[in-house]
Amino acid sequence: MRVTLVGTGSPIPVLDRAGTCLVVETDDETFMIDCGPNTVHRLIEQEISYGEITDLFITHHHLDHNAAFYNFVFTSWAQGGRESLTVYGPDGTDALVDSMYDIYEEDLEYRKDIYPTAGITDIDTVQIIDGFSTTIDGHDIETLGVSHSIETYAIKVTAPDGRTFVFSADTSKIPSLKEFAGDADVLVQDACIGPYDEDQVPDDGLVWEQYCTDTPYSSDAVYESHCTAADAGEIASDAGVDTVVLTHLMPYRDTNEMQRRAEQSFDGMVIVAEDGLEFEV
Ligand SMILES: [Zn+2]
Ligand SMILES: [Zn+2]
Repeated sequence: MRVTLVGTGSPIPVLDRAGTCLVVETDDETFMIDCGPNTVHRLIEQEISYGEITDLFITHHHLDHNAAFYNFVFTSWAQGGRESLTVYGPDGTDALVDSMYDIYEEDLEYRKDIYPTAGITDIDTVQIIDGFSTTIDGHDIETLGVSHSIETYAIKVTAPDGRTFVFSADTSKIPSLKEFAGDADVLVQDACIGPYDEDQVPDDGLVWEQYCTDTPYSSDAVYESHCTAADAGEIASDAGVDTVVLTHLMPYRDTNEMQRRAEQSFDGMVIVAEDGLEFEV
């Protein structure tokens, strides 16, 4: 399977990282995980045929993971490539879809004359719980409840040949990730908390002053619901994965230092995510 990291940022809007979104392409299907801000524009930029996506998994209902939902649903429908859309997610996923039908009722009626195609009026929702599993094009997809500020699920995709890709979603370092990600070929891991690099700050334009520090948060809530780069390295080491990809990066991070911190406890390959990064699993 081919995995593309469409968006690798945090809730803080910056131009070089969209909100969280990953796309998995198998031989015959393409499915998406999360739909954060700027997803649609990144999909176009990365030349992903997103009108054909019929399955969307949402790891949790934080805005940096679902804010482009309406935009994705409407514009993918407009492309006319799909016949159905199934949205998998935690409690609240029904409400997300129903709110679209509610808010955009008249807009949908208007557009149905313009785009007389399927895949908009009958969107299915499937509630994810811990241990949920399904299969897409012979690839097994499983979930693990992780530890974040709201109900959140990590996702594992296992190809028919046994190759495995795991996305941690947003989580603090928890023991159950070790087993869930055990021996995965690639682990894409929340490494939200990392050191600051002043050279990354733009010379002009909008600067997020609060993030010009190693410790941009006044609350412990962030530290209790995300991982550091060192945590990511330890999880990768404990799980015995081949490669760990550090993602969910805040503005102005020192990514070289983050990589070094992950490598302190992990002998495998450490990659710092960038929007558009693709890899074969
Ligand atoms: Zn979150
Ligand atoms: Zn997030």
